[in-house]
Amino acid sequence: MTATSGHDAGPADDSRDLPGGLPDGPLGLPWPRTAVRRADGSVAVGDVGLPELAAAQGTPLYVVDERDMRERAAALRDAMTTAFAEHGAEVELFYAGKAFLCRAVARWMSQEGLGIDTASLGELTTALSAGVDAARVGLHGNNKSDEELELALTAGDKGIGRVVLDSLVEVDRVADVAAGLGVRARVMLRVTTGVHAGGHEYISTGHEDQKFGLSVHPARPGEDSPALTALLAILARPELDLLGLHSHIGSQILDPAGFDAAAREVLRVRAELAERTGVLVPEVDLGGGFGVAYLPGEVELDPERIAKETAAAVVEAAAETGTAVPRVSFEPGRSIAGPAGLTLYTVGTVKPVRLPEGSELAERLYVSIDGGMGDNIRPALYGAAYHAELVGRTSSAPPVRARVVGKHCESGDIVVHDVDLPADVHAGDLLAVAVTGAYGRSMASTYNLLPRPGVVAVRDGEVTPLVRRESVADLLALDLG
Ligand SMILES: *Cc1c(COP(=O)(O)O)cnc(C)c1O
Repeated sequence: MTATSGHDAGPADDSRDLPGGLPDGPLGLPWPRTAVRRADGSVAVGDVGLPELAAAQGTPLYVVDERDMRERAAALRDAMTTAFAEHGAEVELFYAGKAFLCRAVARWMSQEGLGIDTASLGELTTALSAGVDAARVGLHGNNKSDEELELALTAGDKGIGRVVLDSLVEVDRVADVAAGLGVRARVMLRVTTGVHAGGHEYISTGHEDQKFGLSVHPARPGEDSPALTALLAILARPELDLLGLHSHIGSQILDPAGFDAAAREVLRVRAELAERTGVLVPEVDLGGGFGVAYLPGEVELDPERIAKETAAAVVEAAAETGTAVPRVSFEPGRSIAGPAGLTLYTVGTVKPVRLPEGSELAERLYVSIDGGMGDNIRPALYGAAYHAELVGRTSSAPPVRARVVGKHCESGDIVVHDVDLPADVHAGDLLAVAVTGAYGRSMASTYNLLPRPGVVAVRDGEVTPLVRRESVADLLALDLG
Protein backbone atom coordinates (compact mmCIF):
# COMPACT_ATOMS: atom_id res chain seq x y z
CA MET A 1 0.00 0.00 0.00
CA THR A 2 1.18 3.48 -0.77
CA ALA A 3 1.08 5.84 2.16
CA THR A 4 -0.25 9.24 1.19
CA SER A 5 -0.84 12.65 2.68
CA GLY A 6 1.34 12.03 5.66
CA HIS A 7 -0.91 9.22 6.83
CA ASP A 8 1.32 6.71 8.50
CA ALA A 9 0.23 3.51 6.88
CA GLY A 10 1.51 1.60 9.89
CA PRO A 11 3.36 -1.67 9.98
CA ALA A 12 0.37 -3.93 9.59
CA ASP A 13 -0.85 -3.21 6.08
CA ASP A 14 -0.08 -6.50 4.47
CA SER A 15 -1.74 -8.39 7.27
CA ARG A 16 -4.90 -6.27 6.99
CA ASP A 17 -6.77 -9.15 5.38
CA LEU A 18 -5.65 -11.59 8.02
CA PRO A 19 -7.65 -10.64 11.07
CA GLY A 20 -5.86 -13.24 13.18
CA GLY A 21 -2.39 -11.81 12.69
CA LEU A 22 -2.69 -8.16 13.62
CA PRO A 23 0.09 -6.85 15.80
CA ASP A 24 -0.79 -3.91 18.00
CA GLY A 25 -0.11 -0.45 16.63
CA PRO A 26 -1.65 1.96 14.12
CA LEU A 27 -4.25 0.40 11.84
CA GLY A 28 -3.39 2.58 8.80
CA LEU A 29 -5.73 3.32 5.93
CA PRO A 30 -8.64 2.95 5.45
CA TRP A 31 -9.05 3.53 9.21
CA PRO A 32 -8.94 6.97 10.86
CA ARG A 33 -5.48 8.34 11.58
CA THR A 34 -5.57 7.81 15.32
CA ALA A 35 -6.93 4.24 15.11
CA VAL A 36 -4.67 1.78 16.94
CA ARG A 37 -4.94 -1.88 17.81
CA ARG A 38 -4.31 -2.13 21.56
CA ALA A 39 -2.39 -4.90 23.30
CA ASP A 40 -5.65 -6.57 24.36
CA GLY A 41 -6.64 -6.87 20.70
CA SER A 42 -9.33 -4.18 20.74
CA VAL A 43 -9.17 -0.96 18.74
CA ALA A 44 -9.06 2.61 20.06
CA VAL A 45 -9.69 5.80 18.08
CA GLY A 46 -8.82 9.21 19.46
CA ASP A 47 -7.53 7.38 22.57
CA VAL A 48 -11.02 6.04 23.21
CA GLY A 49 -11.49 2.27 23.23
CA LEU A 50 -14.23 1.22 20.85
CA PRO A 51 -15.57 -1.51 23.18
CA GLU A 52 -15.88 1.05 25.99
CA LEU A 53 -17.49 3.51 23.59
CA ALA A 54 -19.99 0.90 22.38
CA ALA A 55 -20.80 -0.06 25.96
CA ALA A 56 -21.47 3.56 26.90
CA GLN A 57 -23.25 4.74 23.74
CA GLY A 58 -24.76 1.60 22.24
CA THR A 59 -24.56 0.50 18.61
CA PRO A 60 -24.92 1.19 15.77
CA LEU A 61 -22.89 4.36 16.26
CA TYR A 62 -21.07 6.71 13.91
CA VAL A 63 -17.66 7.65 15.31
CA VAL A 64 -15.69 10.65 14.01
CA ASP A 65 -11.96 11.06 14.65
CA GLU A 66 -11.96 14.83 15.17
CA ARG A 67 -8.21 15.12 14.84
CA ASP A 68 -8.21 13.25 11.52
CA MET A 69 -11.05 15.32 10.09
CA ARG A 70 -9.42 18.60 11.09
CA GLU A 71 -6.01 17.47 9.81
CA ARG A 72 -7.49 16.47 6.48
CA ALA A 73 -9.09 19.90 6.10
CA ALA A 74 -5.86 21.63 7.14
CA ALA A 75 -3.67 19.51 4.86
CA LEU A 76 -5.82 20.32 1.85
CA ARG A 77 -5.95 24.00 2.79
CA ASP A 78 -2.15 24.18 3.16
CA ALA A 79 -1.42 22.23 -0.02
CA MET A 80 -3.80 24.40 -2.04
CA THR A 81 -2.61 27.67 -0.52
CA THR A 82 1.04 26.81 -1.23
CA ALA A 83 0.45 25.55 -4.77
CA PHE A 84 -1.62 28.58 -5.83
CA ALA A 85 0.62 31.09 -4.01
CA GLU A 86 3.50 29.89 -6.19
CA HIS A 87 1.60 31.41 -9.10
CA GLY A 88 0.56 34.48 -7.11
CA ALA A 89 -3.00 33.16 -6.96
CA GLU A 90 -5.47 32.89 -4.08
CA VAL A 91 -7.50 29.84 -3.23
CA GLU A 92 -10.38 29.22 -0.83
CA LEU A 93 -11.88 25.96 0.39
CA PHE A 94 -15.54 25.32 1.17
CA TYR A 95 -16.37 22.12 3.05
CA ALA A 96 -19.25 20.40 1.23
CA GLY A 97 -21.76 20.03 4.04
CA LYS A 98 -23.74 17.35 2.30
CA ALA A 99 -20.97 14.85 3.14
CA PHE A 100 -21.82 15.28 6.83
CA LEU A 101 -22.92 18.45 8.55
CA CYS A 102 -23.77 19.29 12.12
CA ARG A 103 -22.96 22.40 14.09
CA ALA A 104 -19.75 21.02 15.62
CA VAL A 105 -18.42 20.02 12.19
CA ALA A 106 -19.33 23.44 10.77
CA ARG A 107 -17.30 25.04 13.60
CA TRP A 108 -14.33 22.70 13.15
CA MET A 109 -14.21 23.52 9.45
CA SER A 110 -14.47 27.27 10.12
CA GLN A 111 -11.67 27.01 12.66
CA GLU A 112 -9.54 25.26 10.04
CA GLY A 113 -10.14 28.16 7.67
CA LEU A 114 -12.77 26.61 5.41
CA GLY A 115 -16.11 28.06 4.35
CA ILE A 116 -19.21 25.84 4.21
CA ASP A 117 -21.10 24.77 1.14
CA THR A 118 -24.77 23.97 1.60
CA ALA A 119 -27.52 22.61 -0.61
CA SER A 120 -30.76 22.99 1.36
CA LEU A 121 -32.54 25.02 4.01
CA GLY A 122 -31.47 22.45 6.60
CA GLU A 123 -27.77 22.61 5.70
CA LEU A 124 -27.82 26.39 5.36
CA THR A 125 -29.57 26.86 8.71
CA THR A 126 -27.18 24.43 10.40
CA ALA A 127 -24.10 26.27 9.12
CA LEU A 128 -25.48 29.68 10.09
CA SER A 129 -26.68 28.51 13.50
CA ALA A 130 -23.17 27.19 14.19
CA GLY A 131 -22.00 30.79 13.92
CA VAL A 132 -20.22 30.38 10.58
CA ASP A 133 -19.62 33.79 8.97
CA ALA A 134 -22.39 34.15 6.36
CA ALA A 135 -19.88 35.61 3.92
CA ARG A 136 -18.14 32.22 3.93
CA VAL A 137 -21.23 30.15 3.18
CA GLY A 138 -22.44 29.02 -0.24
CA LEU A 139 -25.78 27.66 -1.46
CA HIS A 140 -26.25 25.20 -4.30
CA GLY A 141 -29.29 23.53 -5.75
CA ASN A 142 -31.08 23.02 -9.03
CA ASN A 143 -34.47 23.85 -7.49
CA LYS A 144 -34.00 26.25 -4.60
CA SER A 145 -37.07 27.23 -2.58
CA ASP A 146 -38.16 30.79 -1.78
CA GLU A 147 -37.40 30.12 1.86
CA GLU A 148 -33.86 29.01 1.01
CA LEU A 149 -33.24 32.06 -1.17
CA GLU A 150 -34.68 34.49 1.37
CA LEU A 151 -32.48 33.12 4.13
CA ALA A 152 -29.46 33.11 1.82
CA LEU A 153 -29.95 36.72 0.79
CA THR A 154 -30.63 38.08 4.27
CA ALA A 155 -28.16 36.14 6.46
CA GLY A 156 -25.36 38.13 8.10
CA ASP A 157 -24.70 41.72 6.97
CA LYS A 158 -25.27 41.24 3.26
CA GLY A 159 -26.37 37.70 2.63
CA ILE A 160 -24.28 34.59 2.22
CA GLY A 161 -21.08 34.72 0.20
CA ARG A 162 -22.37 32.97 -2.89
CA VAL A 163 -25.56 31.61 -4.36
CA VAL A 164 -24.70 29.24 -7.18
CA LEU A 165 -27.23 29.75 -9.97
CA ASP A 166 -28.15 26.58 -11.79
CA SER A 167 -30.49 27.57 -14.64
CA LEU A 168 -31.53 30.50 -16.81
CA VAL A 169 -34.87 30.91 -15.00
CA GLU A 170 -33.03 31.16 -11.72
CA VAL A 171 -31.21 34.30 -12.89
CA ASP A 172 -34.38 36.37 -12.88
CA ARG A 173 -35.83 34.48 -9.95
CA VAL A 174 -32.91 35.28 -7.63
CA ALA A 175 -32.69 38.85 -8.96
CA ASP A 176 -36.42 39.31 -8.26
CA VAL A 177 -36.12 37.92 -4.72
CA ALA A 178 -33.13 40.24 -4.12
CA ALA A 179 -35.07 43.21 -5.51
CA GLY A 180 -38.03 42.35 -3.27
CA LEU A 181 -35.77 42.27 -0.23
CA GLY A 182 -33.86 45.37 -1.30
CA VAL A 183 -30.51 43.54 -1.28
CA ARG A 184 -27.89 42.46 -3.78
CA ALA A 185 -27.06 38.80 -4.35
CA ARG A 186 -23.53 37.52 -4.86
CA VAL A 187 -23.83 34.76 -7.41
CA MET A 188 -21.83 32.25 -9.40
CA LEU A 189 -23.06 30.29 -12.39
CA ARG A 190 -22.78 26.53 -12.39
CA VAL A 191 -21.59 25.34 -15.77
CA THR A 192 -21.17 21.90 -17.24
CA THR A 193 -18.05 21.28 -19.27
CA GLY A 194 -18.78 17.79 -20.56
CA VAL A 195 -16.06 16.47 -18.26
CA HIS A 196 -17.30 13.76 -15.92
CA ALA A 197 -15.06 12.02 -13.47
CA GLY A 198 -15.26 9.47 -10.71
CA GLY A 199 -13.52 6.23 -9.92
CA HIS A 200 -10.30 5.90 -11.82
CA GLU A 201 -11.15 7.61 -15.08
CA TYR A 202 -12.63 10.68 -16.53
CA ILE A 203 -14.57 11.10 -19.73
CA SER A 204 -15.09 14.22 -21.73
CA THR A 205 -18.18 14.51 -23.89
CA GLY A 206 -19.39 17.50 -25.84
CA HIS A 207 -23.00 17.26 -24.76
CA GLU A 208 -24.78 17.18 -21.45
CA ASP A 209 -27.80 15.20 -20.35
CA GLN A 210 -28.18 15.87 -16.62
CA LYS A 211 -30.00 18.25 -14.33
CA PHE A 212 -27.18 20.44 -13.01
CA GLY A 213 -25.75 23.58 -14.54
CA LEU A 214 -25.60 25.04 -18.03
CA SER A 215 -23.42 23.77 -20.81
CA VAL A 216 -20.37 25.69 -22.00
CA HIS A 217 -20.92 24.16 -25.44
CA PRO A 218 -23.36 25.75 -27.93
CA ALA A 219 -26.23 23.45 -28.91
CA ARG A 220 -25.63 24.44 -32.55
CA PRO A 221 -22.58 25.98 -34.20
CA GLY A 222 -22.69 29.76 -34.21
CA GLU A 223 -25.06 30.02 -31.23
CA ASP A 224 -24.08 31.24 -27.77
CA SER A 225 -23.65 28.44 -25.28
CA PRO A 226 -26.38 28.16 -22.60
CA ALA A 227 -23.72 29.17 -20.05
CA LEU A 228 -22.80 32.34 -21.94
CA THR A 229 -26.47 33.23 -22.42
CA ALA A 230 -27.05 32.97 -18.66
CA LEU A 231 -23.88 34.94 -17.86
CA LEU A 232 -25.09 37.78 -20.08
CA ALA A 233 -28.49 37.63 -18.36
CA ILE A 234 -26.80 37.87 -14.94
CA LEU A 235 -24.79 40.93 -15.99
CA ALA A 236 -28.04 42.55 -17.17
CA ARG A 237 -29.53 42.41 -13.64
CA PRO A 238 -28.16 45.10 -11.31
CA GLU A 239 -29.33 43.13 -8.24
CA LEU A 240 -26.77 40.42 -9.02
CA ASP A 241 -23.00 40.57 -8.41
CA LEU A 242 -21.39 37.97 -10.65
CA LEU A 243 -18.46 36.43 -8.72
CA GLY A 244 -17.59 33.78 -11.23
CA LEU A 245 -18.08 30.34 -12.70
CA HIS A 246 -18.60 27.05 -10.93
CA SER A 247 -17.91 23.51 -12.12
CA HIS A 248 -18.30 20.23 -10.21
CA ILE A 249 -17.33 17.23 -12.30
CA GLY A 250 -18.10 14.30 -10.04
CA SER A 251 -17.05 12.45 -6.94
CA GLN A 252 -14.52 9.87 -5.72
CA ILE A 253 -12.09 11.12 -8.38
CA LEU A 254 -8.60 9.62 -8.24
CA ASP A 255 -7.12 11.15 -11.40
CA PRO A 256 -6.56 14.94 -11.42
CA ALA A 257 -6.80 15.00 -15.24
CA GLY A 258 -10.55 15.65 -15.02
CA PHE A 259 -10.00 18.85 -13.00
CA ASP A 260 -7.37 19.95 -15.48
CA ALA A 261 -9.76 19.51 -18.42
CA ALA A 262 -12.66 21.19 -16.62
CA ALA A 263 -10.51 24.14 -15.52
CA ARG A 264 -9.50 24.78 -19.11
CA GLU A 265 -13.12 24.78 -20.30
CA VAL A 266 -14.20 27.09 -17.49
CA LEU A 267 -11.37 29.54 -18.15
CA ARG A 268 -12.21 29.54 -21.84
CA VAL A 269 -15.81 30.64 -21.07
CA ARG A 270 -14.52 33.23 -18.60
CA ALA A 271 -12.33 34.67 -21.37
CA GLU A 272 -15.22 34.51 -23.85
CA LEU A 273 -17.42 36.53 -21.47
CA ALA A 274 -14.61 39.06 -20.96
CA GLU A 275 -14.19 39.43 -24.70
CA ARG A 276 -17.92 39.99 -25.21
CA THR A 277 -18.56 42.33 -22.28
CA GLY A 278 -15.25 43.53 -20.86
CA VAL A 279 -16.15 41.82 -17.55
CA LEU A 280 -13.50 39.40 -16.34
CA VAL A 281 -15.12 37.56 -13.41
CA PRO A 282 -12.76 37.23 -10.45
CA GLU A 283 -13.39 33.66 -9.36
CA VAL A 284 -13.55 30.08 -10.59
CA ASP A 285 -14.85 27.24 -8.37
CA LEU A 286 -13.72 23.79 -9.42
CA GLY A 287 -16.02 21.87 -7.06
CA GLY A 288 -15.18 18.83 -4.96
CA GLY A 289 -14.82 15.14 -5.62
CA PHE A 290 -11.34 14.21 -4.36
CA GLY A 291 -11.19 10.44 -4.00
CA VAL A 292 -10.39 8.45 -0.87
CA ALA A 293 -9.26 4.90 -0.05
CA TYR A 294 -12.22 2.74 0.94
CA LEU A 295 -10.34 -0.57 1.06
CA PRO A 296 -6.96 -1.68 2.37
CA GLY A 297 -4.36 -1.20 -0.35
CA GLU A 298 -6.28 1.57 -2.14
CA VAL A 299 -4.73 5.02 -2.39
CA GLU A 300 -6.38 8.38 -1.87
CA LEU A 301 -5.91 11.42 -4.06
CA ASP A 302 -2.91 13.20 -2.57
CA PRO A 303 -3.68 16.84 -1.59
CA GLU A 304 -0.32 18.10 -2.86
CA ARG A 305 -0.72 16.41 -6.19
CA ILE A 306 -4.23 17.71 -6.80
CA ALA A 307 -3.17 21.18 -5.64
CA LYS A 308 -0.10 21.36 -7.88
CA GLU A 309 -1.83 19.95 -10.94
CA THR A 310 -4.94 22.11 -10.71
CA ALA A 311 -2.88 25.24 -9.99
CA ALA A 312 -0.74 24.55 -13.04
CA ALA A 313 -3.81 23.90 -15.23
CA VAL A 314 -5.51 27.12 -14.13
CA VAL A 315 -2.38 29.20 -14.66
CA GLU A 316 -1.73 27.67 -18.08
CA ALA A 317 -5.33 28.13 -19.20
CA ALA A 318 -5.26 31.76 -18.05
CA ALA A 319 -2.07 32.34 -20.03
CA GLU A 320 -3.50 30.62 -23.12
CA THR A 321 -6.60 32.82 -23.03
CA GLY A 322 -4.61 35.95 -22.22
CA THR A 323 -6.56 36.56 -19.00
CA ALA A 324 -5.46 37.18 -15.41
CA VAL A 325 -5.32 34.14 -13.12
CA PRO A 326 -8.63 33.97 -11.20
CA ARG A 327 -9.14 33.38 -7.51
CA VAL A 328 -9.94 29.66 -7.25
CA SER A 329 -12.16 27.77 -4.85
CA PHE A 330 -12.82 24.09 -4.18
CA GLU A 331 -15.57 22.22 -2.32
CA PRO A 332 -14.22 18.98 -0.86
CA GLY A 333 -16.57 16.87 1.24
CA ARG A 334 -15.76 13.16 1.12
CA SER A 335 -11.98 13.55 1.31
CA ILE A 336 -12.29 15.46 4.61
CA ALA A 337 -15.13 13.64 6.35
CA GLY A 338 -15.08 10.14 4.85
CA PRO A 339 -11.91 8.51 6.18
CA ALA A 340 -12.22 10.26 9.57
CA GLY A 341 -15.38 8.31 10.34
CA LEU A 342 -16.35 4.71 10.99
CA THR A 343 -19.53 2.94 12.00
CA LEU A 344 -19.60 0.62 15.00
CA TYR A 345 -22.02 -2.30 14.94
CA THR A 346 -22.74 -5.33 17.10
CA VAL A 347 -22.81 -8.67 15.34
CA GLY A 348 -26.03 -10.68 15.71
CA THR A 349 -27.02 -13.68 13.60
CA VAL A 350 -24.18 -15.47 11.82
CA LYS A 351 -25.33 -17.82 9.07
CA PRO A 352 -23.24 -19.95 6.71
CA VAL A 353 -24.89 -20.22 3.29
CA ARG A 354 -23.87 -23.02 0.91
CA LEU A 355 -23.43 -21.68 -2.59
CA PRO A 356 -24.46 -23.58 -5.75
CA GLU A 357 -22.04 -25.95 -7.44
CA GLY A 358 -19.66 -23.97 -9.67
CA SER A 359 -19.77 -20.79 -7.57
CA GLU A 360 -16.54 -19.04 -6.81
CA LEU A 361 -16.98 -19.99 -3.15
CA ALA A 362 -18.40 -23.14 -1.60
CA GLU A 363 -19.86 -21.22 1.27
CA ARG A 364 -20.41 -17.63 2.30
CA LEU A 365 -20.76 -16.52 5.89
CA TYR A 366 -23.60 -14.00 6.31
CA VAL A 367 -22.82 -11.80 9.29
CA SER A 368 -25.84 -9.74 10.37
CA ILE A 369 -25.34 -6.46 12.18
CA ASP A 370 -27.69 -4.20 14.14
CA GLY A 371 -27.84 -1.51 11.40
CA GLY A 372 -27.64 -1.72 7.62
CA MET A 373 -28.84 0.12 4.54
CA GLY A 374 -30.63 2.67 6.74
CA ASP A 375 -27.31 3.98 8.07
CA ASN A 376 -25.21 3.21 4.97
CA ILE A 377 -27.13 3.25 1.70
CA ARG A 378 -24.07 3.53 -0.55
CA PRO A 379 -23.48 -0.19 -1.16
CA ALA A 380 -27.14 -0.67 -2.16
CA LEU A 381 -27.31 2.61 -4.09
CA TYR A 382 -23.98 2.57 -5.92
CA GLY A 383 -22.52 -0.88 -5.31
CA ALA A 384 -19.90 0.89 -3.16
CA ALA A 385 -17.25 -1.32 -1.55
CA TYR A 386 -16.39 -1.05 2.15
CA HIS A 387 -14.01 -2.74 4.57
CA ALA A 388 -14.90 -4.18 7.99
CA GLU A 389 -12.95 -5.62 10.88
CA LEU A 390 -13.66 -6.94 14.33
CA VAL A 391 -12.59 -4.19 16.70
CA GLY A 392 -13.33 -5.76 20.07
CA ARG A 393 -10.73 -8.54 19.83
CA THR A 394 -8.29 -10.34 17.60
CA SER A 395 -8.68 -13.98 16.73
CA SER A 396 -6.40 -16.78 15.69
CA ALA A 397 -9.25 -18.50 13.80
CA PRO A 398 -8.67 -18.75 10.05
CA PRO A 399 -10.24 -16.07 7.85
CA VAL A 400 -13.48 -16.94 6.04
CA ARG A 401 -15.20 -15.04 3.25
CA ALA A 402 -18.02 -13.09 4.83
CA ARG A 403 -20.77 -10.72 3.75
CA VAL A 404 -21.86 -8.11 6.26
CA VAL A 405 -25.62 -7.56 6.02
CA GLY A 406 -28.08 -5.35 7.85
CA LYS A 407 -31.36 -6.06 9.58
CA HIS A 408 -33.68 -4.42 7.05
CA CYS A 409 -36.34 -6.36 5.10
CA GLU A 410 -34.46 -6.27 1.84
CA SER A 411 -32.09 -8.86 0.42
CA GLY A 412 -30.02 -6.01 -1.06
CA ASP A 413 -29.39 -4.74 2.47
CA ILE A 414 -25.66 -5.38 2.23
CA VAL A 415 -23.06 -3.18 3.94
CA VAL A 416 -19.89 -5.06 2.95
CA HIS A 417 -20.14 -7.44 -0.01
CA ASP A 418 -16.93 -9.32 0.55
CA VAL A 419 -14.60 -9.28 3.49
CA ASP A 420 -12.49 -11.87 5.30
CA LEU A 421 -13.50 -12.19 8.93
CA PRO A 422 -12.23 -14.72 11.47
CA ALA A 423 -14.18 -17.97 11.30
CA ASP A 424 -15.14 -17.67 14.95
CA VAL A 425 -17.03 -14.36 14.45
CA HIS A 426 -20.08 -14.60 16.68
CA ALA A 427 -23.04 -12.73 18.14
CA GLY A 428 -21.88 -9.94 20.42
CA ASP A 429 -18.68 -9.24 18.47
CA LEU A 430 -18.01 -5.58 17.82
CA LEU A 431 -17.55 -4.82 14.12
CA ALA A 432 -16.47 -1.54 12.53
CA VAL A 433 -16.96 -0.45 8.93
CA ALA A 434 -14.34 2.06 7.74
CA VAL A 435 -14.71 5.34 5.82
CA THR A 436 -18.34 6.02 6.67
CA GLY A 437 -17.73 9.61 7.80
CA ALA A 438 -19.07 11.02 4.54
CA TYR A 439 -22.44 10.15 3.01
CA GLY A 440 -23.25 7.83 5.94
CA ARG A 441 -25.29 9.74 8.51
CA SER A 442 -26.07 12.40 5.92
CA MET A 443 -27.78 9.86 3.65
CA ALA A 444 -29.33 7.80 6.45
CA SER A 445 -33.00 6.88 6.42
CA THR A 446 -35.45 5.39 8.89
CA TYR A 447 -36.41 2.55 6.55
CA ASN A 448 -38.33 -0.16 8.43
CA LEU A 449 -38.72 2.52 11.13
CA LEU A 450 -35.22 1.84 12.37
CA PRO A 451 -34.10 4.96 14.22
CA ARG A 452 -30.93 6.57 12.84
CA PRO A 453 -27.73 6.07 14.86
CA GLY A 454 -26.12 8.94 16.72
CA VAL A 455 -22.73 10.48 15.96
CA VAL A 456 -19.93 10.98 18.48
CA ALA A 457 -16.56 12.63 18.07
CA VAL A 458 -13.50 11.17 19.78
CA ARG A 459 -10.32 13.07 20.48
CA ASP A 460 -7.52 12.71 23.04
CA GLY A 461 -9.54 10.35 25.20
CA GLU A 462 -12.64 12.57 25.16
CA VAL A 463 -16.01 11.60 23.71
CA THR A 464 -18.21 14.44 22.42
CA PRO A 465 -21.72 13.54 21.28
CA LEU A 466 -22.46 15.44 18.03
CA VAL A 467 -25.85 14.11 16.97
CA ARG A 468 -28.18 12.30 19.34
CA ARG A 469 -29.25 8.78 18.51
CA GLU A 470 -32.83 8.75 17.25
CA SER A 471 -35.34 6.74 19.25
CA VAL A 472 -38.57 5.00 18.31
CA ALA A 473 -40.26 7.74 20.37
CA ASP A 474 -38.74 10.33 17.97
CA LEU A 475 -40.27 8.46 15.04
CA LEU A 476 -43.64 8.17 16.77
CA ALA A 477 -43.57 11.89 17.55
CA LEU A 478 -43.91 12.51 13.80
CA ASP A 479 -46.84 10.09 13.54
CA LEU A 480 -50.11 12.03 13.77
CA GLY A 481 -52.40 9.03 13.41
C1 LIG B 1 -21.24 16.73 -3.80
C2 LIG B 1 -20.66 18.02 -4.14
C3 LIG B 1 -19.42 18.40 -3.62
C4 LIG B 1 -18.60 17.51 -2.73
O1 LIG B 1 -18.19 16.34 -3.36
P1 LIG B 1 -17.19 15.32 -2.61
O2 LIG B 1 -17.10 14.18 -3.56
O3 LIG B 1 -17.84 14.94 -1.34
O4 LIG B 1 -15.91 16.03 -2.41
C5 LIG B 1 -18.95 19.64 -3.93
N1 LIG B 1 -19.64 20.49 -4.74
C6 LIG B 1 -20.85 20.15 -5.25
C7 LIG B 1 -21.57 21.11 -6.10
C8 LIG B 1 -21.39 18.91 -4.98
O5 LIG B 1 -22.58 18.59 -5.49
